[in-house]
Amino acid sequence: MTKAMTDLPPFTEPHVAPRQWDYLRDALENGKLDGNGPYTEQAAAVVRRVTAAAEVLLTPSCTHALEMSAIALDIEPGDEVIVPAFSYAPTACAFALRGAHLVYVDSHPDTLNVRADHIAAAITERTKAIVVLHYAGVPCEMDPIMAIAREHGLAVVEDSAQAFGSTYRGRPTGSFGRFAALSFHATKNVHCAKGGALLVNDQADTDRAKIIQDRGTDRHHYFQGLVKEYQWVELGSSSMLNELLAALLAAQLETFDEVQAIRGHWWNTYDATLPGWAREHGVATPHIPAHTTHSAHLYHLVLPTEDSKSALLDHLAAQGLTATVHYLALHDTPAGRRFGQPGPGGCAVAETLPRRLIRLPMHAGMAADYQRRVIDAVIDFRP
Ligand SMILES: *Cc1c(COP(=O)(O)O)cnc(C)c1O
Repeated sequence: MTKAMTDLPPFTEPHVAPRQWDYLRDALENGKLDGNGPYTEQAAAVVRRVTAAAEVLLTPSCTHALEMSAIALDIEPGDEVIVPAFSYAPTACAFALRGAHLVYVDSHPDTLNVRADHIAAAITERTKAIVVLHYAGVPCEMDPIMAIAREHGLAVVEDSAQAFGSTYRGRPTGSFGRFAALSFHATKNVHCAKGGALLVNDQADTDRAKIIQDRGTDRHHYFQGLVKEYQWVELGSSSMLNELLAALLAAQLETFDEVQAIRGHWWNTYDATLPGWAREHGVATPHIPAHTTHSAHLYHLVLPTEDSKSALLDHLAAQGLTATVHYLALHDTPAGRRFGQPGPGGCAVAETLPRRLIRLPMHAGMAADYQRRVIDAVIDFRP
């Protein structure tokens, strides 16, 4: 018998950092609540160290950071933006908001990351930017993607929401594109309930990014004593992380190495126990290219059919274990169809594989015994 989702344990639980209460109280008592205070600087310094970004602006979400990059790139109606078909709504929505026409490109069947050859084929004289997503924190093939972007003079934006701490050929993800967006949503490895960061990799973009972040005003010039009064100078929004959440984030980031070690252990345990069963039953496990490291954000299985995926979810739920699906291809959604279309290569992989994909539970506070039960239940399942 299948248990209702509401009876099951949560799929993931937000990480708790020991000093988060102290930092939150301190920030609240400090009085500088709206942002850009000492905890913002402390958290941004860690993000700069991990990502090697030239500038880190903390934002209320990854979605805000993506929207800021779309404003900074002057995306306007008539422009085309190439986005991965297999991605989450904000990756695309941020650019559709500026009036862009979205061109969806397909995924590699092994990593589900966007294909460089399909990006190249989708470029027209109207193309303004290329957006990539490092799915599950596994880096995209950045060398060929950056070569294509350079050849056509196009900006690259990395959706690094799941890839904080990942590397491609020894270089951090988020440091390749002109901009990158991180998420510190409660479901991510480290979090501040809801938060994010815009990574600015070209120093020349920093000033404008700060204006866009601060309601389109040059208030940061005012604080630096460069102008007597600040004014509205640009399109922008209110996209600064407040100091309370920055304090929570600073406490979480202090535990980042520890969180990554624990998650890496869960990920490796799945990957040491499941591939034998998977090979025997036509199930795909994650593929990590040799020249990359990943953030251990999630562990997924791609079942042979959509029916066997549903059957495995039911099989786990019947034993009180929570696994879940992930998003479907963007061009397969109502808004995705309205704001864009697949590029010349089509999107066959992105359309079908996610329908057969499940994510296994994994968070820093997960009990080893719970994972053992998940593994036993999966191995016991016959697709
Ligand atoms: C989590 C996530 C986001 C959204 O992050 P928010 O901080 O909630 O805006 C965007 N893209 C991807 C791929 C994500 O996984």
